[in-house]
Amino acid sequence: MRNTIVAGNWKMHKTLPETHSLLDELIEKLPTGKQTEIIVAPAFTNLSNAVAHLEGTNIQVAAQNMHQAEGGAFTGEISAQMLLSIGVNTVILGHSERRHYFQETDALLADKVNTALKHDMRVIFCIGEELKDRQNKQYLNVIFNQLTDGLFHLTKEQWKHIVIAYEPVWAIGTGETATPKQAQEIHAFIRQEIDRKYDKNLANSTSILYGGSVKPNNAKEIFSQPDVDGGLIGGAALSADDFSAIVNAI
Ligand code: 13P
Repeated sequence: MRNTIVAGNWKMHKTLPETHSLLDELIEKLPTGKQTEIIVAPAFTNLSNAVAHLEGTNIQVAAQNMHQAEGGAFTGEISAQMLLSIGVNTVILGHSERRHYFQETDALLADKVNTALKHDMRVIFCIGEELKDRQNKQYLNVIFNQLTDGLFHLTKEQWKHIVIAYEPVWAIGTGETATPKQAQEIHAFIRQEIDRKYDKNLANSTSILYGGSVKPNNAKEIFSQPDVDGGLIGGAALSADDFSAIVNAI
């Protein structure tokens, strides 16, 4: 009914030679016969090479970010058209590290989403609460606001290009995962809000990934939750053995 997806967010890791070695290992170790979509998101400098390297495989390439403008005097930035021109048509937007370290707000992210969709790109849109929100029991409000401000202006047609990644900030790179029950609670909540805003069909066909310290030893349990459709993997995506084990866990 909906796609399962496992995506590796490589963050600011791997030089070009290291990217090639990891891709070689992934090509060798990742399963080929699965329905699950497999995506890797290397650094900008390595995207073009990654696309060429992975040609003819079942591994897709995504960018970790992009700018909202079509082009112009924005030193250091990358546009949608630049990504498309090298064969990258999926982009991760709204990662909590972008929100936190680069002050990306929901309003800015809504602009980025609009630009990506205007170019028919697919967006993996990250949302997630901080530890204090969970402690204050505000986490559902935070998630709701991120959805509303980042995505709920879109039409139903546009939503077909959206994948959600729920990544609780307190679980990213900390070794602490949400329990399968906590993940399921939020994923079901997200689906319910998509249903409320749009309809059940769209809610049931939107893939919602979990991210935050997913490892080979916890992936199966998390992925077995009914509303978890895969994962956005950080640290464990940098090891071909771990990433393959995670893909095989779905
Ligand atoms: P870790 O898997 O390292 O916790 O990172 C998750 C993440 O931020 C993926 O985008």
